[in-house]
Amino acid sequence: MTWEIVGQERALAALRRAVADEARLSHAYLFAGPERVGKATAARRFAQAMNCEAAVEDDVERPCGECRTCRLIEEGKHADVEVVSVGGLCDESEHGDHSADNSRDIRICQVRRLGHVVSRAPYEGRYRVIVIDPADAMTKDAANAFLKTLEEPAASVVLVLVTSREAALAETVRSRCRRIEFAGVPRAEIESALVERWQAEPAVAARLARLAEGRLGWAVSAVTDDSVLAAREEAFDEIETLLAGGDEERFAYAAALGRRYPRESAAVQANLSHWSAWWREVLLAAGGQPELAAETERLDRLRSYAQQYGVAGALRALHAVEDARRHLDEHASPTLALEVMLLELPRVAARRAG
Ligand SMILES: [Zn+2]
Ligand SMILES: [Zn+2]
Repeated sequence: MTWEIVGQERALAALRRAVADEARLSHAYLFAGPERVGKATAARRFAQAMNCEAAVEDDVERPCGECRTCRLIEEGKHADVEVVSVGGLCDESEHGDHSADNSRDIRICQVRRLGHVVSRAPYEGRYRVIVIDPADAMTKDAANAFLKTLEEPAASVVLVLVTSREAALAETVRSRCRRIEFAGVPRAEIESALVERWQAEPAVAARLARLAEGRLGWAVSAVTDDSVLAAREEAFDEIETLLAGGDEERFAYAAALGRRYPRESAAVQANLSHWSAWWREVLLAAGGQPELAAETERLDRLRSYAQQYGVAGALRALHAVEDARRHLDEHASPTLALEVMLLELPRVAARRAG
């Protein structure tokens, strides 16, 4: 098999070189790039390729996808390949399994357990591969403890840190990893992949490819699950309601979102990505872009907002949202960052169409 990843040629080329010539293999990688563009899949393929049983002289591209090792890794059942995520296992006898306690972080106890795991030689593979996803979910203490694992690399261990919020990751951790950049997948590639590999109707594929903004994984989930698009529409409704409201509603919204942030940063960031998306739609409407034509239900409203705010107003608002997202990643006070954002947004009350 190939790596079966759409786009990402540069990232994959670097990983293929490392697999082909083990002298090039680093002990720690940072897979950085937007959400849902194939980073987690690439990490799994990388682990498969490093451990694949296909002999190099057979001229089969690794991962072969067929040997026992490739299959076990694909199913998440290989003893030497582990994905560490929010709410995973730890060694502390009184803690148990954090998947049951609504943990939102990768904790120091999970990282300490990793320290023990990597000190043991691989059981059955050539390399022990630990994928930390999302690496930015490590608490400050966890990241500090992780430094020790990074600084004293064990033989035959490859660490892969996955993040879509690189700025939220400690510089001391980042600087010790070989960075592999993942980019948004071009719209045309998403569109054709949706039609060819996920059997989407061409019109649906075209619309989702536009809305995906490079996130192939999002587009694929939207093809198979109606609730994905529904969540987007719901978020857009909330934004429109809030823009029509006054300062009081805005402050309350900022405070509520700010309170959630320490425990649910990914959900809050996802919420803000809807804000960015909404303003981009208004920008498109202000620029009279025909690609909005598929937005039949919201088109009239978007046009009326575009008329109110104009290109300059929508751009200013979009920048305010992007600033807030960056400030949150940089550990600014969440509520303050969100208040600043909401106060920057235009105040003219919108008249709902219909
Ligand atoms: Zn294989
Ligand atoms: Zn624990």
